[in-house]
Amino acid sequence: MRTLIIGGGAAGLYLSSLVPESLIIEKDGRCGRKLSITGGGRCNFTHASTVPELLEHYNGNIPFIRKILYSHTPEDIMRHMEKLGIKAITEEDGRVFPSSMNAGDVVNALMPDESRLITGTGAVRAEKNGDVFHVYLSDGRMLESDTLVIASGCSAQNDIYDGSGVSILRSFGHTITPFRPALAPLNLERKLGKAEGTSVRVRIKAGKKEAEGDAVITRNGISGPVILNISRHVEPGSMITLSFADTDIRSLREKEPRKAVKNAISLPERLVHALVGDAADMKLGNLSKADERMITENLTAFRTKAWPSAGAAMTEKGGAVLSEFKAGTLESKIVPGLYAAGDVLDVDADTGGYNLTWAFACAWCISESLML
Ligand SMILES: Cc1cc2nc3c(=O)[nH]c(=O)nc-3n(C[C@H](O)[C@H](O)[C@H](O)COP(=O)(O)OP(=O)(O)OC[C@H]3O[C@@H](n4cnc5c(N)ncnc54)[C@H](O)[C@@H]3O)c2cc1C
Repeated sequence: MRTLIIGGGAAGLYLSSLVPESLIIEKDGRCGRKLSITGGGRCNFTHASTVPELLEHYNGNIPFIRKILYSHTPEDIMRHMEKLGIKAITEEDGRVFPSSMNAGDVVNALMPDESRLITGTGAVRAEKNGDVFHVYLSDGRMLESDTLVIASGCSAQNDIYDGSGVSILRSFGHTITPFRPALAPLNLERKLGKAEGTSVRVRIKAGKKEAEGDAVITRNGISGPVILNISRHVEPGSMITLSFADTDIRSLREKEPRKAVKNAISLPERLVHALVGDAADMKLGNLSKADERMITENLTAFRTKAWPSAGAAMTEKGGAVLSEFKAGTLESKIVPGLYAAGDVLDVDADTGGYNLTWAFACAWCISESLML
C-alpha cells in the first residue's frame, strides 16, 4: 500500500476521502466514533470565518497553523463536504453543521469502502527500513507502506496503554509536549453540587485570563462554553475566581430589609443556597456585617481551586511539536515520508468548529503533498 493512515478519526477519514490509495488502521471496532458525537451529535465541522479570524481561536505555533489553514479554508471544507453529499448550514454565530444536523451523516460520507479499512486492531510499533515503513499491529500482522500518516488523536491513555501513534512518533525521534486536558469542564474544590444543573451567566478569572458567558453547575464543578474555552489556561489545582452577580447586599438591605436573601438576589435559589448556605434563608435586615461580607464575597468573587476534568475533555493541549514538521505539508523533518495530522499535533483551539477545521485542513495538506 502506498499510504497507511494510523487512526480512523476526523483527520484520518478526511485524508482517506482525498487519497484513494490509502488504508486506515483503526484500533476501535469502527471508525469515527468521536466524530459521531461532536457538536452534541450534530457535528460542528467548521466555522464560517476568514483565516485571520480563525487564528484568534488557536493556541500553538501560529505561523505554522496559519499556513495550514490558508491551504484549506472553511469554504474549502464546506465545498469538499458538499462533494461528498453533505450540505452545510451556518448558524448565526458562524458555526457550521451538516444540514441534517446528524454527525453520523458526516462519518458515513467520509467512510472509505471496507477494502481500505482495518478496524479492531491498533498499530503498536513502526520502523522505516530503507524507503519502506513496517507497521506492526496488535493482532500480530505487519503492513508495509511508502508513506505513514499518524492521525491517532490526542488521548494520553492511548500513549500509556497500547503504544499508540504518539509513541510511534516518539520512536522516530519526534518530541511530544505532554498532553493535558483542554476544552474541559472544571472540577472545583469548593463544590456547588446542590445547584447541579443550574444554568447561569458567569464571569471567570483564571490567572491573567478573564471571560464571561453561559455556564452550568455540575456535581463536581462547572461546565459550559465559557468554562471549556478558558480551561486550557487553568493549571491543575490553581485558584480561579467566579463572579455570579454584582450584588450590593447593603443597598438591597436598605431597600427591602424583610426580604429573604434568596429572593433578593437575581440568581436561581438553589445556586444562592449552594453559594451562601443557610444565610440564603435569612432576612436581609437580620444579616450581621460578617454575613454581609461572606455573601458579597461568594456571589461576586467565589474563589476556589480548580482542575480541568481529564475524563471529560473535548481535546487536549500538547502533542507532537510542530517545528519538527514541514509547514504546509506536515511531512516530518526527521523521517521523510512520515506525516502527522489533527489532535496528535501540538495545537488546540476553542469550541466552535475550530478543532475539526484543523484536523481537516491538516488532512488536505498531506493529501496535496502525497499527490505531488
Ligand atoms: C464530545 C466531543 C465533542 C466535540 N465536538 C466538536 C465539534 O463540534 N467541533 C469541533 O471542531 N471539534 C469537536 N471536538 C474535537 C474533535 O472531535 C477533535 O478535535 C477531532 O476528532 C480530532 O481528530 P483526530 O483525527 O485528530 O482524532 P480523533 O478523531 O480522536 O481520531 C483518532 C483515531 O485514532 C484511533 N487510534 C488511536 N491510536 C491508534 C492506534 N495506535 N492504532 C490505530 N488507531 C488508533 C482512535 O481510536 C481514533 O479513532 C469534540 C470532541 C469531543 C470529545
